[in-house]
Amino acid sequence: MSDPTIFERIIDGEIPAEIIRETDDVIAFLDANPLAPGHTLVVPKEAHERLRDVPPALSGEVFGVVRDLAPAIEDAVEADATTVGINDGRAAGQEIEHLHVHIVPRFDGDGGGSLHSVMGAAGGVDDPDLGGIADDIAAALE
Ligand code: 5GP
Repeated sequence: MSDPTIFERIIDGEIPAEIIRETDDVIAFLDANPLAPGHTLVVPKEAHERLRDVPPALSGEVFGVVRDLAPAIEDAVEADATTVGINDGRAAGQEIEHLHVHIVPRFDGDGGGSLHSVMGAAGGVDDPDLGGIADDIAAALE
């Protein structure tokens, strides 16, 4: 067994956090290094590293909490919009190996970009084979 992540220690109450929602299976708390006021992490209590590892019913509960919290956080911090995202895997920037959804309040003129800006200048595909890729995804779903 790997060592518990910091999130498991928060879930177990070993490490303090500003918990804003807790159900039997999901916990949400404020990010300790917020990108914006109200930056929140929504986390399944059961330890799963990647989205692909999370049982479907549990992923539904996680996104249900995201759905409830995003507008409430927006209202609470008087934000204009919200970015919701997952760094799903190390190559995508995931640092804590326990799946979590970021809810980041956004403000008009805050200087941040859209999710498209995540890739920066590296983004874009020359001559994308959309049909072939769609077929490959359909095959992977079988
Ligand atoms: P990742 O890069 O894995 O998607 O994001 C991990 C997030 O966890 C970061 O935004 C980071 O600020 C947050 N974080 C790391 N350690 C702690 C902690 O001890 N407490 C809380 N509340 N957030 C943490």
